[in-house]
Amino acid sequence: MITEIYSPKSKADLLENLNRLSGKSFHFGAGYTDLLMDFKQNPDQEERVLNLAQMQDPDFVGIRKQGQGFYIGALTKIARIADSDELKSDFPVLQQAAQSLASSQIREVATVGGNLCTASPAGDVSCALVALQAQCHILSAQGDLRTIPIKNFFKGVRQTDLRSNEVFQGIFIPENQEKYWHSAFVKVGTRRSMECSVVSLAYHIQMNDEEVISNAGLALGSAAPLIPFPEKASQFLKGKKINNLSPGDIDTFTELIAEYANPISDIRASAWYRMEVLKNISRSIFE
Ligand SMILES: Cc1cc2nc3c(=O)[nH]c(=O)nc-3n(C[C@H](O)[C@H](O)[C@H](O)COP(=O)(O)OP(=O)(O)OC[C@H]3O[C@@H](n4cnc5c(N)ncnc54)[C@H](O)[C@@H]3O)c2cc1C
Repeated sequence: MITEIYSPKSKADLLENLNRLSGKSFHFGAGYTDLLMDFKQNPDQEERVLNLAQMQDPDFVGIRKQGQGFYIGALTKIARIADSDELKSDFPVLQQAAQSLASSQIREVATVGGNLCTASPAGDVSCALVALQAQCHILSAQGDLRTIPIKNFFKGVRQTDLRSNEVFQGIFIPENQEKYWHSAFVKVGTRRSMECSVVSLAYHIQMNDEEVISNAGLALGSAAPLIPFPEKASQFLKGKKINNLSPGDIDTFTELIAEYANPISDIRASAWYRMEVLKNISRSIFE
């Protein structure tokens, strides 16, 4: 039961509210697609909400080219990522992840910041952002901004590096260093829509003019408590020609990916099934 709700419209308003709520328990609310589910589980609990949905500050809402990359405000709707032409051409993995999330109705309200701050191993957009080696921009009640690599943001299932006086402001994606990339989000679920992944794989592999891989961004969804970036598999690909990998190379790559997976068995799939599917979709990158 929501008993108190604060709805700042500007960054200054938000900071004022953050300071006022210092030491008190509260939830941020953005699109509420996850939060209302949590509230439903404890209907009698009194909840205080700092509602971000009316914020219009450009540091919190919108997609823009910034310096050597792209900046996406935390309150940007998943639908805006799904229909962005710039993201489609530069980071297909991110646009495909956004398009695969839930339904068009959910995508119109759900936000990128909510997807990250929920810290679910099945977060589709979060998985793509791990593969893109994004940077998290976190704002404190004092107005200080800190930037951390996304791999340091997730601390466990539903646990992040956010401190009690901080809000997630946005995400920065470094621009591509090469002219060519092989980039996609592969999501396997039990049905086509409205379903979190059974397992997923995000990849964003950059190649030079000679098709030599210089950077391989990879991330595994629903495969472990966090969203792993399989560093050894990424390093293995570096320096190799993408169209010249031997069957042995692909076997080694698949085994290196599997080293980072520690899936669970649940109502949607067994751990064994998840692992087999992950290996198959890892191979499919090179088909
Ligand atoms: C039917 C259904 C299907 C779904 N399918 C998918 C799916 O296929 N793939 C998928 O990845 N997800 C799915 N989801 C989950 C959900 O839609 C996403 O995680 C969504 O991106 C959450 O965003 P939100 O804005 O609604 O977050 P909210 O529900 O508003 O917030 C989620 C959490 O993040 C915190 N938070 C939000 N914004 C901030 C901020 N700026 N700073 C600090 N903390 C913040 C909140 O306090 C809360 O703890 C589904 C949900 C539903 C209901």
